[in-house]
Amino acid sequence: MESAWFHGRLVNICYEFHQLSTNGLDKKQIIQQLNHDYRLFSKKEAFTCVCCGKPVEMVLPLDRSVHFRHKDGSECSYSENYRKYKKQKEKYENIKRHELGKTILRTLLEGQLKPYGITVQDGYHYKGTLSFIPDFILTFPNQEKIWAIDYFTGFKGSKGYATHIAKRKETYQSQGIRPFFLVDEVWLAFNPKVSAYTTFVESELHIIEKRPQDIDWNLFLLDLDPHLLDLLLQQPSKYEPFDTRSIVYVNPEDRTCKILRFLMTNQRHAFVLTTPLEISLEQALSITPDMETFQLYSHEENKQMVLLKEELLAKYYQILAEEERKLKEKSLFEEKHRSEAEERLQEAIYEHIQTMEERIKEWGQASTNNKIRSQEEMDEDLSRRFKALNSSYMKRKAELLIQSARQHILQHHTVNTYPEPSDMTTEEKVAMKK
Ligand SMILES: [Zn+2]
Repeated sequence: MESAWFHGRLVNICYEFHQLSTNGLDKKQIIQQLNHDYRLFSKKEAFTCVCCGKPVEMVLPLDRSVHFRHKDGSECSYSENYRKYKKQKEKYENIKRHELGKTILRTLLEGQLKPYGITVQDGYHYKGTLSFIPDFILTFPNQEKIWAIDYFTGFKGSKGYATHIAKRKETYQSQGIRPFFLVDEVWLAFNPKVSAYTTFVESELHIIEKRPQDIDWNLFLLDLDPHLLDLLLQQPSKYEPFDTRSIVYVNPEDRTCKILRFLMTNQRHAFVLTTPLEISLEQALSITPDMETFQLYSHEENKQMVLLKEELLAKYYQILAEEERKLKEKSLFEEKHRSEAEERLQEAIYEHIQTMEERIKEWGQASTNNKIRSQEEMDEDLSRRFKALNSSYMKRKAELLIQSARQHILQHHTVNTYPEPSDMTTEEKVAMKK
């Protein structure tokens, strides 16, 4: 047992131990100090059991936690619950972290709940034996409600630990006790730099909750423009219907609390909707006005939603701008490519026209058979060139160009077939015609 009555006040020996420890004393020095302060009182039976009133004695071992025990070695519900509690904590928790955190949580809970007439007591002080002893039992005025608070520090992925937490929850609920599970921040695995997802161990799956603010997040998702939703979730259909869940991680030493809101993907991974919302532990452990739950939400959540939407919108506009830039680049490239091809075509046609001119010059002297053969060769050459053109637009353009060139040359040829008494070259004649 941690506590005992002493001259009308409750002495919690573990609390005193931690007080001395924060003053810089080591375990040996603390035990010396406690011995100095209380040993004689303990011998004279000044300490009595909180539950049954029998005398208890102070036990200060070097290798285990300090505690009280019945002087006659008997058991009452407190001593039995306490023994069970200690055994469970030693088996599953990081004792040092748990004890320190529990001390801080107690102070905060008492400060926040006393004004409402809610009593905060150690779980093992519960009148009646429990199979699972919570860290704290909160009793509402007139015993109308009982809540249990557990602080988990032992990071364990084992099946046994998960079963332990699940059974604990089930037992509380079967006894009409509402459980609140606070998980130490050492369990929080989330790093947006490497992943937008978090991963849970099986134990955490029993701690995940559905809180009123989770429904607000569902509405936020439903209200989001489909383009933005695609950006946020990649494959929104995978998560439909949206069912936001949350988990709370506490850091008693820093007096902070982080709330994670997420959509489960499969059994153990979840897409985290927003960076963990940090609130003070004081706020987290204060009660809502309707006294139905703790204020495990951030006042910044609506702001966070607006910010997230703005972020997504900015990202979306950036993507649109990028697409437009690429399209522009593509059309510029195509235009350049086309004008280059046109240039090449012009050259080819010019070359072709020159060949045609030369052939036509030869025609003058050629026989009819040869004229036909030359014409066939030229057509063949043309069709070969056309085949090389890969655009129908270019083909049509080339056809028209060559047609007009051929017409021009044939006209010129007609002139040439009735030779004038002249030695002028074709170029000279063309120049003259102009
Ligand atoms: Zn007792």
